[in-house]
Amino acid sequence: MIISGKELSAQLKAEMAAQVAEFPEKYGRVPHLVVILVGDNPASVSYVTGKAKASELVGIRNTTLRKPETISEAELLDIIRDLNADDTVDGILVQLPLPKHISESKVIETISKEKDVDGFHPLNVAALWQKEECILPCTPKGIIKMLKAAGVEIKGRRAVVIGRSNIVGLPVAKLLLDENATVTIAHSRTENLPELTRQAEILVVAIGRPKFVTGDMVSEGTVVIDVGVNRDPETGKLCGDVDFSAIEPKASVITPVPGGVGPMTICCLMENTIECFLRKR
Ligand code: NAP
Repeated sequence: MIISGKELSAQLKAEMAAQVAEFPEKYGRVPHLVVILVGDNPASVSYVTGKAKASELVGIRNTTLRKPETISEAELLDIIRDLNADDTVDGILVQLPLPKHISESKVIETISKEKDVDGFHPLNVAALWQKEECILPCTPKGIIKMLKAAGVEIKGRRAVVIGRSNIVGLPVAKLLLDENATVTIAHSRTENLPELTRQAEILVVAIGRPKFVTGDMVSEGTVVIDVGVNRDPETGKLCGDVDFSAIEPKASVITPVPGGVGPMTICCLMENTIECFLRKR
């Protein structure tokens, strides 16, 4: 069974659009998301365009602020502070990565916790680990939604997450733990990785290496979530961290790349923007 993040996100966005359509009458306006793009990195431009398109579909107001690569850190932080103080703005997202002269952690810390639709602010991260109300990071949130929509039982299952980044690996592991899976986190220093991955009933891969997980690393019936977004060195096409053609026949459930986790990430960004808007009311 291939879980289509494209289809699930289309369905969820249609539901959100119906919800947002009632906001002008109920609350006087629709939610407003501001996305800041620094420079013109093609991948970042494409992500920002995707976010604007999704906002349009859902009926969320989207403002994309494009700033030159040369903008100083102080100027960028001032823009964020102004947006924090602006009552008509509900969500703020600064597209990463940023040029080297700008500290990403300073930028993330400057965004108001209440408008941090990416869920990257240290206070949101702390709240997640303390099981308090928080804004969940979009990719991990989307993964749990996909598993649930596919009817995957998480409770009591052995889950292995490869990758321990703050953006994907660690929060995915925490959300799986909160769903009562027994979670192992693997990384670049993990020994005997294939032995570990073969024991997984749920395998989440977030490494950033094309087709890193090969057929022999996965047992029959495993649920496989592929977060990676890479270029296949042979074909130049988008591919995941998992060798899809080798693993798909063995997996009970698998996500494709493209069309899997990616669309769900943007869908959860829309949901987070609506949540930030509603929390103020
Ligand atoms: P990252 O910060 O570079 O982290 C990569 C992780 O993989 C690290 O924890 C690293 O271990 C681990 N790793 C690297 N080589 C390994 C190996 N040989 N064996 C085991 N573990 C290894 O990357 P990220 O931000 O988490 O992103 C991971 C992938 O997901 C990328 O392809 C990215 O483009 C993609 N992504 C997709 C979405 C989406 O919406 N679909 C969202 C975010 C990211 P160490 O900690 O030991 O270095």
